[in-house]
Amino acid sequence: MIISTKKGTPQVEVQKIIDSFEAQGLQVTLIRGTDYNVFGLVGDTTKIDERQIRANPWVEEVTRVAAPYKLANRLFHEADSVIDVAGIAVGGNAPIAVIGGPCSVEGEAMAVELAKQCKAAGATMFRGGAYKPRTSPYAFQGMETEGILALVKARQATGLPIVSEMMGEDTVDEFEEYVDLVQIGARNMQNFNLLKAAGKMTRPILLKRGLANTIEEWIMSAEYIMAAGNPNVIFCERGIRTFEKYTRNTLDLSVIPILKQKSHLPVIIDPSHATGDWRLIESASLAAVAAGADGLMIEVHSAPECAWSDGAQSLKPDKFAAVIEKCRAVANVVGRTM
Ligand code: PEP
Ligand code: MN
Repeated sequence: MIISTKKGTPQVEVQKIIDSFEAQGLQVTLIRGTDYNVFGLVGDTTKIDERQIRANPWVEEVTRVAAPYKLANRLFHEADSVIDVAGIAVGGNAPIAVIGGPCSVEGEAMAVELAKQCKAAGATMFRGGAYKPRTSPYAFQGMETEGILALVKARQATGLPIVSEMMGEDTVDEFEEYVDLVQIGARNMQNFNLLKAAGKMTRPILLKRGLANTIEEWIMSAEYIMAAGNPNVIFCERGIRTFEKYTRNTLDLSVIPILKQKSHLPVIIDPSHATGDWRLIESASLAAVAAGADGLMIEVHSAPECAWSDGAQSLKPDKFAAVIEKCRAVANVVGRTM
């Protein structure tokens, strides 16, 4: 971190600044100019809040050189992290993960049947929402525990690991017991108590990007989970809010190379929520694989027009199979398998 003080800052104030950083265990290097002083802080600056430093009236500028995250940082963990989801590897050079399934679980028979169809299409994990974060309190809120138990049946029938969204800390025990990959939804990306609770779980976490969050904020949320003790985090880009109306969200594929540069954690793409339109899923999926995604999460429903949520962005199983087949060809081109 580099800090400069205002022209004419009294020596006593300069010394106070040095003392305060040294008291926090940092090494301070001072470049004394005729008008300005510039400090370099060496050491662990993750605990330093640059906005707090700016509150000092003698401070002119503060520049962060090191990222504010450590555990998620590629700098301190050069190799790609490969996350084990109940026997399915995600990240590194592992086959590209394919998560398919309905937005909402609509019953046991539906979950079992659809899981079989997703598996036949090439899915390596099965998703389904049992606790749904809906904009309207009058919309279907999910089958809750019954939905989770339906997913368990789907896993028993297919062997596919199950993925589901955990909305509150009150369900941590249930998810720890039954769910192989615990999703933290976009709306909860900065629910810090939920992130801390996820950090105490032994299950891997699928951390979706918030609707309007920067990549750095997203990595900081992963850092929360990791700092609480759970190193197994997978990023999931699901589109962000922009001015564009032709799509539900705007798919930000730039996160793939950026996250891979900044972090060692895997990143998967959810083209369903990113586009909101089943017609756009194929293009978005092909582009995601070409850009180096470690996985795809796609909503699948046998009768999208009747789905209890997100039918418009759900593929029928045969179309889902066709998309995976095309993606496989792209995966081969970029040196991955699927
Ligand atoms: C979902 O996966 O069904 C979901 C609600 O996703 P998001 O949190 O990205 O909106
Ligand atoms: Mn959905």
